[in-house]
Amino acid sequence: MVAQKNKLEPAARRIKLFLLDVDGVMTDGGIYLYRGGEAKKFNVHDGLGISLLKRAGISVGIITGRVSEAVRKRAEELKLDPVYQGYGDKLPALEKILKDYTAEELAYTGDDLLDIPVLKRVGLSFAPANARPEVQKIVDYCSTSSGGAGAIRDIADWLLKMRGVKQEIFGKYIDL
Ligand SMILES: [Mg+2]
Repeated sequence: MVAQKNKLEPAARRIKLFLLDVDGVMTDGGIYLYRGGEAKKFNVHDGLGISLLKRAGISVGIITGRVSEAVRKRAEELKLDPVYQGYGDKLPALEKILKDYTAEELAYTGDDLLDIPVLKRVGLSFAPANARPEVQKIVDYCSTSSGGAGAIRDIADWLLKMRGVKQEIFGKYIDL
């Protein structure tokens, strides 16, 4: 565990952009189809985790295979940037992002086989507890929480703790 921390700590300190898959990561993977539209359920604990990352100077963005108004709205609420929707093959979106960042400056969280090429390219890779076993096997840290049930909050806390960030909440500094 100490050896692993020694390796992951410098990697965590290099991260400038925290990228997320949506279905199965920001949500439980469920999709509600209605009247030609699509609804998804997001988690407020994840929302605060994203705010804490941004407060620590880390940008947060999305690469997702599907296209939905729900994701556009959630991304707008949380001021996520960049947002790439409609990238079933996620590598072309990653290539665009790599024009502004080095691979070591990127972290990505994904849950399924389509995420593996991106997870293998970035500086730090994460998965929620509900990720496919093939994904869990290759990531740097797998959350004990599932997508849509606090996985992003858990991963954000892990990353900030690795970076030695102390969060001030209601005037008090707390360890994450
Ligand atoms: Mg997914």
